[in-house]
Parts: sequence; C-alpha cells; structure tokens
Amino acid sequence: MSEQSRKQLRKRIAIIAGGRCEYCRVLEYLTHYDFHIEHIIGLQHGGTSVASNLAYSCAWCNWKKGPNIATILGREGSLIPLFNPRTQNWFTHFEPNENGVLNGKSDIGKATIKLLELNHPERVDERFCMIQSGFYP
Ligand SMILES: [Zn+2]
Repeated sequence: MSEQSRKQLRKRIAIIAGGRCEYCRVLEYLTHYDFHIEHIIGLQHGGTSVASNLAYSCAWCNWKKGPNIATILGREGSLIPLFNPRTQNWFTHFEPNENGVLNGKSDIGKATIKLLELNHPERVDERFCMIQSGFYP
C-alpha cells in the first residue's frame, strides 16, 4: 500500500469514527497525540487492512486490546467476543454514568470494558471531565 493510500485510508477511518476512539469514545482533538488505526480482527487471526476491519483507536485502547478478539467473563468462564465498532452500535453495549464510569449493557460491553480497562481511574477521570464539558458521550 502506498503512503498516499495509507493516508487516505487513515482519513477515511477517522471520518467514519467522527474523530473519536471507537472503543472508549474519547475525542482525538481533546488529547495530545494522534490516534492509531487498529485492526479489529488482528492480522494473526486472518484480519486484513481494509476499512471494514479497521477502527480509530486512542493509544490506550489500542495498547490494551492488542491482537485480542475476545476475553473470559464471569464465574462460568465464558469466552465473550470484544466489541466490533464496524458491525455493532456503541450505545447498545456501553453506557457512561454521570461520574464517568462506563457500564456494560451487554456481555460484549462488559468484556470490552474489562480487557481494555476502560474503568481505570485515569480513564474515569478523563471521561468525567469530558461529560462535565459536554463532550461526552
Ligand atoms: Zn480509546
């Protein structure tokens, strides 16, 4: 893929994402770094570098997610897939409360919150500030 094609794909994904991390919904312009283009299904799992398999991700979410596509949840140890921002609606699976804590509305939401540590104290503080400023969700 040429550098120009890579830049065009990045811009396309950023537009699809509305400039937000597609996992935690942080706005890129409120952070001090460029977001990553993340493979929803990692290359090692057969995923490809096409728009339908790429997500706009903050560094935290990309770092925590890595190549994972699922995690173990609950006492029964069920294997639950992670949220897929291309095929699923964020608001179906996640709901922030007024204090910035993200609640999982489904097992997929709960699994993603767990693996990506979306309720780490730093993430909750960040979300609380965005809620107070009217930038979230
Ligand atoms: Zn994020």
